[in-house]
Amino acid sequence: MIYQVGKDSGVYCIEGIGQARAYFVAASEYTLIDTGVPSQAPRIVSALAQIGVQPLQVKRIILTHHHWDHVGSLWELQRITHAQVCAHPRDADYITGKRPRRAPRRTLGRIMYGLFTLMGAQKLPPVPIDRALNDGEKIGAFSVIHTPGHTPGHICLQRDDFLFSGDLLFATPGAFRETPHIFTADVPTSRASIAKIAGLDFQVILSGHHAPHVVQSAARVRELANKLGAMENSARVA
Ligand SMILES: [Zn+2]
Ligand SMILES: [Zn+2]
Repeated sequence: MIYQVGKDSGVYCIEGIGQARAYFVAASEYTLIDTGVPSQAPRIVSALAQIGVQPLQVKRIILTHHHWDHVGSLWELQRITHAQVCAHPRDADYITGKRPRRAPRRTLGRIMYGLFTLMGAQKLPPVPIDRALNDGEKIGAFSVIHTPGHTPGHICLQRDDFLFSGDLLFATPGAFRETPHIFTADVPTSRASIAKIAGLDFQVILSGHHAPHVVQSAARVRELANKLGAMENSARVA
């Protein structure tokens, strides 16, 4: 399923491709952000066809981070679109296959990881990265914000009022919260990244696992950052 986020925004959400979402932006250069779990390329291609976009029109694929539910269909999609593949250098080695993805340290994380492995997480074909994206860089209409913690090379992308936030946080309708710690490589660093994003100005947050949150999203992120900051301070006092 594909739908436009807001009227005439040119920003589309693609759902039904496993547990993660992908986004398509019909800016001057057509951009796909994340690719869902493995074997979803046909679904993504047919979603794009519904809005009149042919695979070869997709100029670039930006990955928010290296996790399998975001790069799962990258290899297939790159083959079909010939798009430029972009990611932060600190996650690039996992995508290119230079480094193996590691199981989380905690028991529950390990169990989940085992499950993902059964679902094909370990067998992802390596894909070369065409362009490394560093903090503060511009790529087309997007600004790159390095937000490490969930993974070392996790990035968010901002375009006007829209923030593509990957797995930096869970943007649930009631209140925003941290991504479950079992999936996060470095929790204090992730909290610092949430605080970094809290300083930005945007309305809409497009996260990897929840429906677009379209109003006052920056205020919700600030609330979360304040809560986490208070928790860290009280932990330091105790
Ligand atoms: Zn993730
Ligand atoms: Zn994810």
